[in-house]
Amino acid sequence: MTSVSSQRKPVALVIGSGFGGLAAAIRLGARGYAVKVLERLDAPGGRAYQHKIDGFTFDAGPTIVTAPFLFEELWALCGKKMSDDVQLREMKPYYKIRFSDGQVFTYQGDRAAMREEVERFSPGEGKNFDAFMAMSEQIYRIGFEKLGDEPFNSILDMVRIAPDLLRLQGYRSVYGLVSQFFRNERLRNIFSYHPLLIGGDPFRVSSIYCLIAFLEKSFGVHSAIGGTGALARGLAKLIEGQGGEIRYGADVKRIVVESGRAVGVELVTGERLRADIVVSNADSAYTYRTLIPPHHRKTWTDARLQRQKYSMGLFVWYFGTNRRYDDIGHHTILMGPRYKSLLADIFRRKVLAEDFSLYLHRPTATDPSVAPKGCDTFYVLSPVPNLQGGQEWTLEAEGYRKRIESWLEENILPNLSKHIVASRVTTPLDFRDRLNAIHGEGFGLEPILTQSAAFRPHNMSEDIANLFLVGAGVHPGAGLPGVLSSARVLDKVAPDASAFL
Ligand SMILES: Cc1cc2nc3c(=O)[nH]c(=O)nc-3n(C[C@H](O)[C@H](O)[C@H](O)COP(=O)(O)OP(=O)(O)OC[C@H]3O[C@@H](n4cnc5c(N)ncnc54)[C@H](O)[C@@H]3O)c2cc1C
Repeated sequence: MTSVSSQRKPVALVIGSGFGGLAAAIRLGARGYAVKVLERLDAPGGRAYQHKIDGFTFDAGPTIVTAPFLFEELWALCGKKMSDDVQLREMKPYYKIRFSDGQVFTYQGDRAAMREEVERFSPGEGKNFDAFMAMSEQIYRIGFEKLGDEPFNSILDMVRIAPDLLRLQGYRSVYGLVSQFFRNERLRNIFSYHPLLIGGDPFRVSSIYCLIAFLEKSFGVHSAIGGTGALARGLAKLIEGQGGEIRYGADVKRIVVESGRAVGVELVTGERLRADIVVSNADSAYTYRTLIPPHHRKTWTDARLQRQKYSMGLFVWYFGTNRRYDDIGHHTILMGPRYKSLLADIFRRKVLAEDFSLYLHRPTATDPSVAPKGCDTFYVLSPVPNLQGGQEWTLEAEGYRKRIESWLEENILPNLSKHIVASRVTTPLDFRDRLNAIHGEGFGLEPILTQSAAFRPHNMSEDIANLFLVGAGVHPGAGLPGVLSSARVLDKVAPDASAFL
């Protein structure tokens, strides 16, 4: 093996440069490790990779930045300010939610304006909004502030939180809890759709995710100038500033385990790198199934991984237009005609439905730097079944894209087909082949209660010493706040570098 341990500092290898991996690298660098990030792609960000086509910049994945203090913390660890490298802009409004008959709900941070909007949708329900937000705050105080960066290393940790879970009705689904507050079906949709942003079915994920409403309200909904990719590049720069290294095109084939300890990795090229600790930011199910031979895994056996439920897949069409659509905001949710049964098609039946609900991203609404002058950058995202649904995406993708294009053209982007000058499609196959998501899922394991906290793969490997995991597939879960918090947990479970001196 190439010995990198001959350097004076203990070595931490981080597999993957998603936000979880980048945050972990910075935290480990700050704790005295010589850090090397190994990324198979040619740029940082993972699901937040940026595609650049003919002057258009497309964020591949996350666009809604909440809890910016979690990013700020990483800059502070390096003695800097986030604003030295990246500008965040608060969204006003946060987003618009358009129903299939054209009715639009404007979702914003201002409490009074929200109450009015709720009243406009369903007279008499303004007070229900206040009551819901009070509940969301209570859940946030426990679910995010108290438990969000707590390690869950055993079932006893679950027993410890059971009273809180019961009190906050964590056994209910998000939709179930929201329905206790709102009578109007559309309001129920508006206040329950959030878990879809992190791969959860609102009818199945724990109501703990109702905390998102309060999180957004308290810290705002932001986007980064230059796109979310600017945040990934900013974090990469911090790592390099700490003396760490990010190697792109470094595809890890396996984690080397000796006498029950992770001691390094082997790349697909055959090169071996030694380390004192290994942190995997690759999806947790892929990490265990592919990077670690079965005889080293008692807990996450192939059979158990097979039994897990995986989040939904995503179909994303990135397109640039040679005109601007100025009446479209930065974030628009386009609710289809069906809610519950569409979600059942996607998550349970795993069939590709004729109808869809979409998220439309138009960053040029607030940041013209991501498109040529006078043009618009868009992406439209449709939740679809993951690859367990058996769809033949190589055959179906273009037809599906065209259906979405026609819908957008007929409903909100007139003459769209005549104005498209850049186009790229991502299907669950890309999630499998580019990002190593074993079933092409968008967000790792589905965040249902039985796959959360101690029931999710642990941040500190259950079976292998000196192996740690961060990112969407471990506690607390997907989404930028989730994966950044997983790196906070790492601080609690991984030893300081001095332990190896
Ligand atoms: C389309 C989309 C939209 C989203 N929108 C939002 C949003 O608006 N707001 C929000 O908060 N969240 C959003 N999310 C969720 C959020 O983006 C993810 O949960 C989060 O970015 C995942 O980060 P991660 O740390 O798990 O790493 P990932 O982004 O999954 O990155 C893992 C990295 O590991 C690398 N890797 C894998 N295997 C290997 C290997 N063998 N060797 C080397 N490298 C390897 C991959 O190439 C990848 O770079 C969205 C996700 C998607 C897909």
